[in-house]
Amino acid sequence: AVRYYDWIAHHARRTPAKLAAVDLASNRLFSYETMNDRVGRLARHLRDVHEVRVGDRVAVLALNSTDIFEVQFACARIGAIFVPLNTRLTVPELEFIVSDASPRLMIHDDDLADTAGQVAARCGVPAVCQVGGGGDYERGIALSSALPAEEGEIVSHDDVSTIMYTSGTTGRPKGAMITHGMTFYNCVNLGSIAYVTPSTVQLVVLPLFHTGGLNCYANPVFHVGGTVLVMRAFDPGMALRLIGERAYGLNLFFGVPSIYQFMGQHPAFAETDFSGLVVGGVGGAPMPVPLLKLWESKGIALMQGYGMTETSPSVLALDNMDAARKAGSAGKPVLHTEVRVVREDGSDADAGEIGELWVRGPNVTPGYWNRPEANKAAITDGWLHTGDATRVDEEGYYYIVDRWKDMYISGGENVYPAEVEDVLYQLAAVAEAAVIGIPDETWGEAGMAVVVVKPGQELTEAEVMAHCRANLARFKCPRVVSFVAALPRNATGKVHKPTLRGQFADVTV
Ligand code: ATP
Ligand code: MG
Repeated sequence: AVRYYDWIAHHARRTPAKLAAVDLASNRLFSYETMNDRVGRLARHLRDVHEVRVGDRVAVLALNSTDIFEVQFACARIGAIFVPLNTRLTVPELEFIVSDASPRLMIHDDDLADTAGQVAARCGVPAVCQVGGGGDYERGIALSSALPAEEGEIVSHDDVSTIMYTSGTTGRPKGAMITHGMTFYNCVNLGSIAYVTPSTVQLVVLPLFHTGGLNCYANPVFHVGGTVLVMRAFDPGMALRLIGERAYGLNLFFGVPSIYQFMGQHPAFAETDFSGLVVGGVGGAPMPVPLLKLWESKGIALMQGYGMTETSPSVLALDNMDAARKAGSAGKPVLHTEVRVVREDGSDADAGEIGELWVRGPNVTPGYWNRPEANKAAITDGWLHTGDATRVDEEGYYYIVDRWKDMYISGGENVYPAEVEDVLYQLAAVAEAAVIGIPDETWGEAGMAVVVVKPGQELTEAEVMAHCRANLARFKCPRVVSFVAALPRNATGKVHKPTLRGQFADVTV
C-alpha cells in the first residue's frame, strides 16, 4: 500500500515562509513553517496527554477556523481518525453521531462549550479539549515540543483518515469513511481541473465539517502548497468585499448554489469587481440556470461540479470554457474516476435516458462507518450508487437531474423538482423556490411550489401558474403555490425537503 505523505511538513520544508492559512475572524496568519510546527505540537499533545492512539477517533465541534486544519493534519500524523461535527445540530442529534463515532477526545471552541460538554457527558467521551480562551488546545500547543512528520505513525492510503457525516439532506447523516488515498485522489482529480496551483488563494465560506468546505475548498489547496482563507461563517457582503479587494491575493472561489444566490442578491453584488477570480466553482446541489446567467453577466462563467461526501467529493466537472455551451451540465468525469448511468435492472442507460449515476474509483468510500447493511445496498463491485437521477448526452456531458428521493410521479409521468425550480427562478421576483410532490386524488401526486418573494416585490399564485404553464408540460406544472418567508436549509445551504414536506404534510389536491 502507498504510504501517507505529510503535505504540511513537505511545504514547510519547501516554502516555509509561504502563507498557508489565514483565520479571518481572529486575524491570525500562519506560514507553512508555523502551521507545521503547530501541527507537530498538537500531534504530540494529543498522543501524550490525551492518549490518542492509532485508529482512535478525534471529534471536532467548532465553527470554521484554521484550528480545524491543524486537528486534521495532527490526527494524520499520529494515525488517528478525524471526525468533524456539524455545529448546527442539537444535542440529541450530536449524541447519535458521537455515539456512532465513539471518539477518544472531543475538541470544541468557546461558542460550543456548553453543547460539547453535554454531548461528551451523554456519550461518555473521556476527554474534551477547548480551543481559545486559554483552553487546553493552545496550552497543549504552547507546552509540547513538535512531533516531526518523520516520527509520526506510518499510515497508508488505505487507512481511514476521516469519518465525515453526510449533509443529512435525505435523512439521518451517515458517516462516510474517507481514506488518505481518497483525499489524495480528490486533490489530484479536482486540483487538475479547477485551476488549483501553488499560487491559489482560496476563500472558504462553507462549513469545514462537510465535504464541500474541507475537500473542495481547502485540502486541494494545501496539497499543492497554496493559501486558504477561512471565514468563520458565511457572510455574503464580506465575501463580496474580500473578492473585490483581492484580499491576500484571493483568486479562487467555490460555493454551493445558495452561496451564489445570496451573494447575487446582495446590494454590493452590482459594484463588486470579480476580475481577480481565476474561476468560480459551483456544485453540491442543482444550480438554476437563471443564476448561472446572472453571474455570467458579471463575467464569471461558473465552473459546475458534482460530487458527494462518499466520493470525497469530486466526480464530475464542467470546464468553464464549456459553461455557456453546456449550461446546466455538471460536466464530464474528473481524472481517475469512472461513472455509469444505470437502469433499474443494472444495465447501462442510453444517451438521453435518465438512470441512476454510479461511481467507481480511488476517490470512492470503502463504506459507511458501522453500517454493514447500508454498505451492501450502496456499493456493488466497487460501484457506489449515488441515488441521483442523471442523463448523459451524445457528447458525454452529464446532467444531474435530481435526487430519486425527490422525484414524484404525476399521472404516470416522472417529475423532477429541480426542473420546475429552474423555471420558477426565471421569475425576477423569486428569491428562493422549492418544489415537492403532494398527494393528488386524480393524478396520484402533484407538484407544490414553495416560493420566497424578494423583499419589496410582489408575486401572485396566478402569475406563478401562468409562467409555469408557458414553460412546462402540463404534468410538470405545480398545482399549488405557497409563499413563505424562508426555506428550511441544512448547514451546506441545501433546501431540506423532508422538513418542507413535513410543513405541508396536510396539503392535498
Ligand atoms: P444525505 O446523503 O445525508 O441525504 P447529501 O446527499 O446532501 O445528504 P452530500 O454528500 O453533502 O450529502 O451531498 C451530495 C449530494 O448533493 C449528491 O448526491 C447530489 O444529490 C447533490 N449534488 C451534488 N452536486 C450536485 C450538482 N452539481 N447538481 C445537482 N445535485 C448535486
Ligand atoms: Mg447523500
